[in-house]
Amino acid sequence: MFKTSFDFILGRKTKEDLPYVASLSFEELGKPKEVIVGKPIQCQRCGGVLTDPQSIKKDPKIGTHFVCAFCGTLNLVDPKDLPSHLMEDVDFIIEEAMEIKTTKPEVTGDNIVAVIDISGSMSGGKLEAVKRSLTETIKDLKVNAPQTKFGLIAFESQVYLINFKGGKTLTVSGDDLHSQEKVAEKFSRANYDFLDVEKTASKWIETLSKLEPMNNTALGPGLLGGYTLLKMRGGGRLLLLTDGLANTGFGSLESPSTTGKNFYKEIAESCKYNNIIVDVVGVREEAAESRLALKTLGDLALETGGDIYYVTMQEIERTFADIRGKGYIAREVEVKMLTPPSLKIVDVTGTAYETPKPEEPIRLGGVTEDREIYFEMQTSKEVKEEEVPIQAQIQYVDPQGRRHLRVVTKKVKKTEDEKQFTKTYNPKITGAMRVQQAGRAAYQGKAEKAKEIIGKYQKQIAAAPMAPEAKVVANVLQKELNELVAKAESEDEAAVQSAKKIRVSGKKLFE
Ligand SMILES: [Zn+2]
Repeated sequence: MFKTSFDFILGRKTKEDLPYVASLSFEELGKPKEVIVGKPIQCQRCGGVLTDPQSIKKDPKIGTHFVCAFCGTLNLVDPKDLPSHLMEDVDFIIEEAMEIKTTKPEVTGDNIVAVIDISGSMSGGKLEAVKRSLTETIKDLKVNAPQTKFGLIAFESQVYLINFKGGKTLTVSGDDLHSQEKVAEKFSRANYDFLDVEKTASKWIETLSKLEPMNNTALGPGLLGGYTLLKMRGGGRLLLLTDGLANTGFGSLESPSTTGKNFYKEIAESCKYNNIIVDVVGVREEAAESRLALKTLGDLALETGGDIYYVTMQEIERTFADIRGKGYIAREVEVKMLTPPSLKIVDVTGTAYETPKPEEPIRLGGVTEDREIYFEMQTSKEVKEEEVPIQAQIQYVDPQGRRHLRVVTKKVKKTEDEKQFTKTYNPKITGAMRVQQAGRAAYQGKAEKAKEIIGKYQKQIAAAPMAPEAKVVANVLQKELNELVAKAESEDEAAVQSAKKIRVSGKKLFE
């Protein structure tokens, strides 16, 4: 799960060193592994986990202690807590699942809220396709995850919270649509039957069949309503579907001002901190140019671990099936990479935006098993240590609700032999990171920067003595770049294309 592009670190920095890149993939989190229940021994200053018993020293004056391999701090430890053997990859359970307060133990299902556009433009088959797709979703949940709780919010010029019997638990309209406080308050007070699909499926199917399209697009208030519902229930998944630009209430994206955009940024951030994963489905118009501002809405997905889709009416059902099929193996994922000062972390990719402090904990929301993130590091002028430690810490909540801390530590030897360094270098790991970086640049509208990122790395590996592999990697990168800078039909198309590259998987790229 933790790989590096390099097997050695060069003792002296040269002008054009091949980049030091580490990749972190998450498929292992879903596999069984022996666990330690309890807290690890951590450096009091930087949080580095003690994994090597050899670094423990006994001193009659100071007592039992270790000097942190990452920040150099001396930490006193209780001799009875010490690890007995070297732990390269260890999984701690740091918090058991919250106890369920009923007498009989039961598995609690996931919470899903669909926030659906029923504005006038959804007529002509689109809403029918959505209704069919949601009906399939309900049927599927009833069989495969009957304890899932399902909720429905529909928006047009007003926002409705609809219960399984088809009744409107809540209607938000008029001035209230312009007040985030009002909408949040109304949804948090709503007495809503958020029940297991097992018991409500047939009623839901009947209710869905009665949805009718009308009027405008109060997307912002609808989204905030869905967020509020899920937040109060400990999180869950939110499916946002629209075919038009938000234009009613707060979060309106019709005016050029940034107020509307900021609303989505803030709510994306709030979702991430409240265990809510958002999938965004934009429905495109076959002929006319539609404008959905998917770049703005896409942040909701990129920040929370969900996906963005830009699909035709005919593709809606397949998209819903895809969303249903996605398994999140870990939630509330937070990653921290630790290195000593001689190997400084300079960038992290696979997240929505550039992270100004990549050495600090990074929130990823939910992760599926194919998710990969990458870290780039740089050495200082001269590396003094003979061996440089790198530690990846992944904190997450598993599907049973237990909080883990997975700690994977690698030690990389120093070499003065440049040939040894290049010969053992893995150009694919860095290649995948460069595609994610180029995707991020393109997502922000910087096509030239995307070209520069890929072009520079192609030249670098062409010059290094790894000829046959370099050629393969360079070709794959060229193909990715061509896709990135290809003229898209619309802004929405371009946003979704580049967002996919931000999440590209190295495994798929070079398989
Ligand atoms: Zn430390």
